Amino acid sequence: METSKSLFKEAQRYIPGGVNSPVRACRSVGVDPPFIDRASGSKVYDADGREYIDYIGSWGPMILGHAFPPVVGAIRQAAERGTSYGAPTRMEIEMAKRIVDAFPSIDRVRMVSSGTEAVMSAIRLARGYTKKNRIIKFEGCYHGHADSLLVKAGSGVATLGIPGSPGVPEALAELTTTVPYNDLEAVRSAIDRYGEDVACVIVEPVAGNMGVVPPAPGFLEGLREITSERGVLLIFDEVITGFRLTYGGFQDIAGIRPDLTCLGKIIGGGLPVGAFGGREDIMEQLAPLGPVYQAGTLSGNPLAMAAGIATLDSLREPGVYDELEEKTAHLCTGIESILSNRKVSHRINRVGSMFTLFFTGEDVTDFASAAQSDQEAFSDHFSKMLAGGIMVAPSPFEASFVSRAHTDEDIGTTLKAFA
Ligand SMILES: *Cc1c(COP(=O)(O)O)cnc(C)c1O
Repeated sequence: METSKSLFKEAQRYIPGGVNSPVRACRSVGVDPPFIDRASGSKVYDADGREYIDYIGSWGPMILGHAFPPVVGAIRQAAERGTSYGAPTRMEIEMAKRIVDAFPSIDRVRMVSSGTEAVMSAIRLARGYTKKNRIIKFEGCYHGHADSLLVKAGSGVATLGIPGSPGVPEALAELTTTVPYNDLEAVRSAIDRYGEDVACVIVEPVAGNMGVVPPAPGFLEGLREITSERGVLLIFDEVITGFRLTYGGFQDIAGIRPDLTCLGKIIGGGLPVGAFGGREDIMEQLAPLGPVYQAGTLSGNPLAMAAGIATLDSLREPGVYDELEEKTAHLCTGIESILSNRKVSHRINRVGSMFTLFFTGEDVTDFASAAQSDQEAFSDHFSKMLAGGIMVAPSPFEASFVSRAHTDEDIGTTLKAFA
């Protein structure tokens, strides 16, 4: 019989490390990865016939749960009309309208096929628009694996302990300055140092790739102020937070308008997607209106648009985000009390339906404090969860995601696995 073990062995003969994205290999927690056979609602099922309550949620997109019938139906219907044309469609307008309506800062938006591509394109646009070269990012923020952004990038690179990546030319990495998250003074001095040549500051408005780290009060406001003063563009990478915390972006909750916004994950409903958008005068620099080139064979793909539109329309139903907030708060309060009773040093950072349990006695406010957490305690926790039928990301630097499909019973079962 095929098992996760046999599949992993076979996969390694054909695929580097047996996986198509590094963190999936579960190396840092020292276990072989479960190979997934199918998923439905809050559950995933592996090749060994085991059922798990899933808190990975495909790393963010599955806010409605797996194989949500309206999404599956929309994909099926779209597939019957052809899977790709390389020509514009009505569905792309429908998707763009929804994004523009939900984000006051977005006048125009362009669809791409991944979050990486969205951010890479937004950076090129920022550089083209400002005619400046340098970018400022935050330690532990992940913005996809494009060259300029793979510097102190959190997520998988942090899990594997790689500071940057071979293959990124020094000359390019040199144009990326990293500063600590939640540290406005560091941003100010970086801009002072390179002011004449800084194109943009890019930030996850709620960090999700060093584990969840919320912005300190005043941090995002301060970024908006400093960048506006200095003629530097502010880019919000809302690939995770877009439609995760409210119908729209975290920028809505924070009351801030970035110049450009990157999206992905949820807006594809589980299909490959990304988008970037913003102020009209900036977006009009893109080809064919302007000189900044950007393109894509599968951009605005009909299946991805269908899945994304069906997802966004379901998220519009009243009460969705309150329900997610309540469920996740209930889960985190439960974990908190179990671990406190057992005197386990920990911190839970939660924003809406995304949270991270850090094994540390100190508050986690940036990458340095996230990196203080106890890797061994995390590995034990991961194995215990897996044995108890709970799937969490195999890294201490990732978020857990609660979906609309998680039931009170799921939450109860999860808490039992902790006890
Ligand atoms: C996932 C992610 C990306 C990259 O998206 P991909 O679709 O994996 O390329 C970019 N930014 C953030 C904040 C992300 O979480």
